[in-house]
Amino acid sequence: MKITAVQPFYLKMPQITDAADGTQDTLLVRVCTDEGIEGWGECDASPLVSLAAYCCPMSHGNIINICESLIGETLDSPKDVLRLHEKALRNGLDIQQIHHAYSGADIALWDIIGKKLGEPIYRLLDDSSDSIAYSKLPYASVLFGDTPEATYQIATCLREQGYRAAKFGWGPMGKFGEENDIALVRAAREGMGQDAQLMIDAGVVWGTDHETAYARAKQFSPFSPTWLEEPLSPDAIESYGALSKRNPPVPIAAGEGSGTYRMAEDLILHGGIQFVQIDVGRIGGITVAYRVRQLAERHGIQYVNHTFKSHLSVAASLHVFATNESFDLLEYPAAGSELSQNLTVERLEVAADGRVRLTDTPGLGVRVDREAMRKYLVPVRIQVSDREIFQSLDL
Ligand SMILES: [Mg+2]
Repeated sequence: MKITAVQPFYLKMPQITDAADGTQDTLLVRVCTDEGIEGWGECDASPLVSLAAYCCPMSHGNIINICESLIGETLDSPKDVLRLHEKALRNGLDIQQIHHAYSGADIALWDIIGKKLGEPIYRLLDDSSDSIAYSKLPYASVLFGDTPEATYQIATCLREQGYRAAKFGWGPMGKFGEENDIALVRAAREGMGQDAQLMIDAGVVWGTDHETAYARAKQFSPFSPTWLEEPLSPDAIESYGALSKRNPPVPIAAGEGSGTYRMAEDLILHGGIQFVQIDVGRIGGITVAYRVRQLAERHGIQYVNHTFKSHLSVAASLHVFATNESFDLLEYPAAGSELSQNLTVERLEVAADGRVRLTDTPGLGVRVDREAMRKYLVPVRIQVSDREIFQSLDL
């Protein structure tokens, strides 16, 4: 089978706001083959910055775009997916965004190879032939309300919807003093009830200030959060190390900002985190996320997905760690734009037992809804002098 086309698509909501809501736009990547099998992937990034990595003109031997690396290539086995990953990254050695941007293409290639071999992706990643996709406990991922009262309302709603776990993040956390921080966590706990799992996402608000991060972990511990997420900046590795050396009473989670394997490795080896959160649409796709999963297994820490996009990304994320029963939590976008909610034909619904599981459908098991795509597709045309280097396709 040969790769015949690699096509990025920029989709967005009519209005973009400055809320920390990554579902307002997206970059989808379609890869086509000469056997008529196509695959799809989604990047969690600035869509047009990533799109450039698919079409930028060659500068020299270390700046060759993703389309040029893939088109015409052979794709017959998982080994080819790994080989092409290496090739695209080597060709794009000096393109800073290459790992990040390649995520969509890598997911699409896994989707294709799963469809060709008639296997769900999780089974192709795991060497053992009897690999099982375990169900996961979805945790609703939402932003804090502007006030403790609004947060309490959101939590109550989630509990009424049946969620047994939820993460509250960003918004006012860390911005209006310790009393407000504690009140926000108390409100989330009271709204969710004592038996729910509660996660707190500080949204990198304390930068390198590990003293404040430690103080908040202590202050939040009476509300028994499962973790305190990103209290510090993604690259504040020394501060993470200093924080974890003090054994905070709440486990520390981080990793969603990892744009390369090395960043996640650094957090695990030197940051001392207990939950590593990987976004399959940022770190270089399923290939790299799976390597981080294996690293987490070797170090005895928990792997969790980071996902705040469509169900295409939820599915891609879940294939990475479905076969490890002890990695039980799945970040599940409970809110999000119409675009992200409607983008796929299939959704990974929460079953009657409150859990989410993959099907045995070959590939990702989730298809893009062309009608929905049409509604949000933004035409893009990039021209350099009189040469057109990119023109988005009609669907
Ligand atoms: Mg987060």
